Amino acid sequence: MSGLPRHLLRRTAAAGAAATGTVAAVHALPALTSVPGLRRRLVPGLAGVGDPGHVALTFDDGPDPTSTPRFLEALAAHEVRATFFLLGSMLVRAPELGRDLVQAGHEVAVHGWEHRYFVLRGPTATYDDLARARDLVGDVTGQTPAFFRPPYGVLSTAVLRAARRLRLRPVLWTAWGKDWSSRATPRSVLDTVRRDLVGGGTVLLHDSDCTSAPGAWRSALGALPALLDECAGRGLRVGPLREHLAPRAGGEVRPTGRLDGSAGRAAPGAAEGAPRTATAP
Ligand SMILES: [Zn+2]
Repeated sequence: MSGLPRHLLRRTAAAGAAATGTVAAVHALPALTSVPGLRRRLVPGLAGVGDPGHVALTFDDGPDPTSTPRFLEALAAHEVRATFFLLGSMLVRAPELGRDLVQAGHEVAVHGWEHRYFVLRGPTATYDDLARARDLVGDVTGQTPAFFRPPYGVLSTAVLRAARRLRLRPVLWTAWGKDWSSRATPRSVLDTVRRDLVGGGTVLLHDSDCTSAPGAWRSALGALPALLDECAGRGLRVGPLREHLAPRAGGEVRPTGRLDGSAGRAAPGAAEGAPRTATAP
């Protein structure tokens, strides 16, 4: 373990805590939801389970001038659109990239301002972080984000309340590529995603290494063509979350990210009833 970058230690610690059941008893359901298979069954909406003929493709931690344009090229070559969960702290340094994402037809969503555990922050700081990120995403891209994914996939009561107030729907994932590791390769990312790849699922990859091993994004980028081919071979359409998840009762999630910059809204109360969860991306 020694010698691992701090972010990997954090990920490993969180994963270990969840896996060994050290989550307090009061968080029993959240502990269960840290297991992807159980999460899919218990809280499918939160896990990102949607249209069974469709796979939602999502990217976290960007936008990053070094890597995000490469993903845009690859997605354009396959005529596929995706959802990008943006960090405010990254977008503020590369606002033109945020606009590029929307111009290319992709959906922008909120990953928070800073890449930190929300459970370590109080309700006010949590709300402020999320609101600041949502406002920047909306202001820069002209697209009102409808979805939110917390850093490391770790939710708290405070963040669920903040998301509800901000009309952001929390969505985690059903399959990931473990692409953040320095040991990841395009092959390992593809194999890892395929293990949990099903119609109706949500795939998590990273278009930036800002919280990962340097250059780790290359393994995700390298896996992308084969992953898209795999989905096509299975007859699964691939696209953003707005095309994947049904609107919530009492509100609507309209298509967002059209080239005219019009935006959709998350349903009010979208996070209501969603349990806290503890897992590590
Ligand atoms: Zn992240």
